[in-house]
Amino acid sequence: MNTSITGRAIAGGILSLSTVNIRDFAEEKRKGRVDDYPYGGGAGMVMQAEPVYRAICAVKAERPAARVIYLDPQGKVFDQEMARELSREEDLIFLCGHYEGIDERVLEEAVTDHVSIGDYVLTGGELPAMVMMDTIARLVPGVLNNEDSSVLESFEDHLLEYPQYTRPEVWNGKAVPEILLSGHHANVEAWRRQQSIRRTLERRPDLLEKAELTKKDRQYLEELPEEKLANPEDIC
Ligand code: SAM
Repeated sequence: MNTSITGRAIAGGILSLSTVNIRDFAEEKRKGRVDDYPYGGGAGMVMQAEPVYRAICAVKAERPAARVIYLDPQGKVFDQEMARELSREEDLIFLCGHYEGIDERVLEEAVTDHVSIGDYVLTGGELPAMVMMDTIARLVPGVLNNEDSSVLESFEDHLLEYPQYTRPEVWNGKAVPEILLSGHHANVEAWRRQQSIRRTLERRPDLLEKAELTKKDRQYLEELPEEKLANPEDIC
């Protein structure tokens, strides 16, 4: 988080981030241990309620209104819409589980949101928290140099972004689409919009259901000849 875009935002005071080690809130006699055997038996260990609760309370003492997000494979799946909503919050607490997870009672008591980064299981919540923090951070005004650069990106309007090109004009025998060299902004915009729609249809047709398409977009979509769409197997 201290490098590149998020690093600059932290250095510039636009974002701040602090980490809390739940082990510091372990009972004295357990010497930093916060896991224990699961009631009812079964494999693995479970993080205890009390140290987690104390850690959250310590943060909330400073940030009482903060939402407490438990990184949880059983949670609502994180997406750009959720990232935008969370980017409007002043403070967020990311609670990272480990082992088999965390005692359910403290989750009931302190967690406001259960969020998963996808249908797979990681060993801990730290990487999911970083995925979320990075995604949310770049939506905070002032974090990206040009605020527009997050507005036009994939998922912002339930469409994937159009293809991007940079110099040289011809690479490996492949030329940049001519329209991008034309300097005609309206035509470039129209071309990008069509590419966006086409790409979404090819790669993520599920997104199109939510996309706000104009009459012109729909017409383009209907006229796209099916056989001309790239076969995902041919892409590489
Ligand atoms: N026993 C849990 C279950 O089956 O739902 C999985 C626990 S997982 C091994 C340990 C921790 O990793 C979780 O408490 C959670 O914080 C984090 N984690 C794992 N997969 C995740 C995902 N897809 N999204 C968010 N957090 C995840």
